[in-house]
Amino acid sequence: MKINSAKFVISNTDIKKCPKPDRPEYAFIGRSNVGKSSLINMLTNNKKLAKTSGKPGKTQLINHFEINDEWYLVDLPGYGYAQVSKSSRVKWQKFIETYLLKRENLMNVFVLIDSRHPPQKIDLEFMEWLGTKGIPFSMVFTKADKCSSNELRKSQMKYKNEMLKTWEFMPPVFITSSTSKLGQEKLLNYIGEINVNARF
Ligand code: GDP
Repeated sequence: MKINSAKFVISNTDIKKCPKPDRPEYAFIGRSNVGKSSLINMLTNNKKLAKTSGKPGKTQLINHFEINDEWYLVDLPGYGYAQVSKSSRVKWQKFIETYLLKRENLMNVFVLIDSRHPPQKIDLEFMEWLGTKGIPFSMVFTKADKCSSNELRKSQMKYKNEMLKTWEFMPPVFITSSTSKLGQEKLLNYIGEINVNARF
C-alpha cells in the first residue's frame, strides 16, 4: 500500500468523541519510548505527524489520523512509564480499555516491542489481556537497526517461549526500523489486505 495522504483528525480521551466508526481502524501502542511516534512517522512518510516524545508518558490521548481518506491510524498513549502517578495510570487503563473493548471498527492492535530488551512483564500482560478479550493484535519489534540479526532472532525467540506457555500460536510479527524503514512495506501491505476484506 502507498500512503498518499495522512491527516491529523482529533485527540481525546473519550471513545464517544472519536470519529464516526465508518472505516477500518488500526491502533499502535507500546511502552513509552518504544519508538511509536517514530514508527508512525516512518510508516506515513511524514516526519512530523506523530510527536516524538521529549517527555515520555506525557501524550495521554487517543490520537486519530486519517490515511488515504480510507482508514484510521490511531496513536494510543504509551504505557508503563514509572514517573506517571498511580492515579493517572489507573485513568489511562480505564479509557484505553474502554477504547479497545468498544471501538467497533478496530481491526488490529499493533503492540510495539523494543527489539533490544528481554520480554517485559507489562508487554506480556498486555498481550495476554488482548488475547483473552479476543482483540486481534500483532507484535511489532522496533529499533531493529540497533541489533544484530542474531540478537533480533534471540529477542523474538524469548517472546515466543514466553507466549507459547499460554497460547497455542503466535500473532503476526513485524520487524521494523524507523531509521532504515525496514518493515514499512510489509506492515502497510498487511493493513491493505485487511482493508480489502473489511466491510463498512
Ligand atoms: P515513543 O515514546 O514510543 O513515541 O518513542 P519515540 O518515537 O519518541 O522514540 C524514542 C527514541 O527512540 C527517540 O530518541 C527516537 O529517535 C529513537 N528511535 C525510535 N525508533 C527508532 C529506530 O527505529 N531506530 C533508532 N536507532 N532509534 C529509534
